[in-house]
Amino acid sequence: MPQETQDAGGDWQARARAQFPILARHPELTYLDSAATSQKPQAVLDAVQDYLTTSNANAGRGTYPWANRTTELVERARERVKEFLGDPAPDRSSVHLTSGTSEGLRTIARDWLPHQLADGDEILVPYEDHRANLEPWLEARQLLAERGTRVQVRALPRQSSSGEYDHRALADAVGPRTRFVAATHVHHVYGGDMNVHRIRAAVGPEIPICLDAAQSVGHLPIRLGDPALDVDFVVFSGHKALALPGTGAVWARNSRGPALRPAGWAGTPNTVGAVSLLAALDWLDAVGVDRVAAHVMSLTVLLTDRLGRLDSYEVLGCPASLTADSVLPAAQRRHGIVTFRHREIPSDDLGFILFSHGFMVRADSLCQAGAHEQNGSVRVSLHVYNTREEIDRLLALLESLE
Ligand code: PMP
Repeated sequence: MPQETQDAGGDWQARARAQFPILARHPELTYLDSAATSQKPQAVLDAVQDYLTTSNANAGRGTYPWANRTTELVERARERVKEFLGDPAPDRSSVHLTSGTSEGLRTIARDWLPHQLADGDEILVPYEDHRANLEPWLEARQLLAERGTRVQVRALPRQSSSGEYDHRALADAVGPRTRFVAATHVHHVYGGDMNVHRIRAAVGPEIPICLDAAQSVGHLPIRLGDPALDVDFVVFSGHKALALPGTGAVWARNSRGPALRPAGWAGTPNTVGAVSLLAALDWLDAVGVDRVAAHVMSLTVLLTDRLGRLDSYEVLGCPASLTADSVLPAAQRRHGIVTFRHREIPSDDLGFILFSHGFMVRADSLCQAGAHEQNGSVRVSLHVYNTREEIDRLLALLESLE
């Protein structure tokens, strides 16, 4: 039995779950859509309530105490993101608060990338990951073309069987005019770790890498000081990491290539969002992201091992993780995301059936770029609050539909 399976549950997990009021209020429902957005712990709700009832004001302007406190909180949220990501050199990086990963990636594509590119340059981007990590790069190419600069956007090569990047083909695809690579940390459909250390090894030390970490921040420990995570941008959604909707951030290393200019105080920032992000990251650190990751992994292993044995279901991506009883390293496992189809029941019907039993899952084409999984599928995605009992009940229902 994989080590992670033995770590499942535990008192700390029951205590953590008890801090999510929406779950306590709806015992008849099971939330399995955390890859879309997470639920919020009481500590986040309290921080927002406290801020709005004690010191709500605008940030970056005003000299009275509420305004000063608001400015401090927003600045603190930026610093907290650096700490949370294990930034080893916070004086050489910047954090830009956004509404989520989509806006973060678009900010880089609009405000930073065009200044790095000259006629004939190339960039490599993922064509089969989330649409939010493709469209901004295509828009940047269009913007540059309108100014007479032609840039080639090439697909990050993949292995068709598993959804992983093809790191060998990637090394061949990198040329003297390659200036930028965009990649994904954990795939939002397959749940697999996309092995960014191999991307760095394939592209060499100089090319900036931008990581879409929407499905990893708050789920997996992220330590930017680790040589295996040698990237230049980390973009994530605060709302998938227990903070309020409309939150996210771009972390930018300022040492390789010119910096992403910080937004400053050009407009009114999402102050409440920043307060919620601060509280969410504090909460996650107090619980321990390592513990969250091990718990979520144990539930994912349970789900994939049992689902992989049911002939009526096709589980998408990462075939290695379906090998029953295999002891796979964490990097080859799925991280809290399992997407599947029933071979006969259409996915939207399956979504209905699951909801009629209280399970809230995603059942559509999952915002994936390209024509890849357009047939529709059902995605189960987990966070700290999910339990083994919920997964057992889900599996019992799926087994009954065999
Ligand atoms: N990238 C990935 C990998 C995602 O999973 C998502 C959200 N599903 C996004 C980008 C977009 O995130 P947001 O909705 O916060 O902009």
